[in-house]
Amino acid sequence: MAHNGDHAGGMGGPVRALVFTAPGQVELLDVPEPDPAPGEVLVEVRAAGICGSELHGARRPGFRQPPLIMGHEFAGIGAGGEAVVINPILSCGRCAECRRGMRHVCREREIVGVHRAGGFARDAEVRRRR
Ligand SMILES: [Zn+2]
Ligand SMILES: [Zn+2]
Repeated sequence: MAHNGDHAGGMGGPVRALVFTAPGQVELLDVPEPDPAPGEVLVEVRAAGICGSELHGARRPGFRQPPLIMGHEFAGIGAGGEAVVINPILSCGRCAECRRGMRHVCREREIVGVHRAGGFARDAEVRRRR
C-alpha cells in the first residue's frame, strides 16, 4: 500500500484496533493501516487513555457512529521519531469562536476518536497543527 504522508514505522499491513461496532459492543479487529491524507501524519500509538466519555459513548446509542476506532487521549511516536501528544480537537480556524481564540468550541469542530478514527490502534492518522 502506498502512503501519501509521513510514516512513523508501520509495517504496511493490517492494524489491530479496538473498534466500537454497536452500542454496548467493542471488538478487537484487524483494520487497514491508516493512509494519511496531505497535511496528516501517521502516529505510532504508544499509550491511550480511556476517557469516561468513551464508556458512556460505547454503551449508549447516539453518541458515536459505529464502526469507529475510539480513543481521543493518546500519545505516541511521530513521523520524525519524536514523542507526540495529540490534541484531539480539530477546529476550522475561521468561525467566530475560532477567531476569538476559543478553538475548543469551534462550530465546525471534529474530535479525533469521536467523529473520525482515534487512538485505540497501533497507528493513527492525525492532522498536523495549522
Ligand atoms: Zn475525554
Ligand atoms: Zn471554528
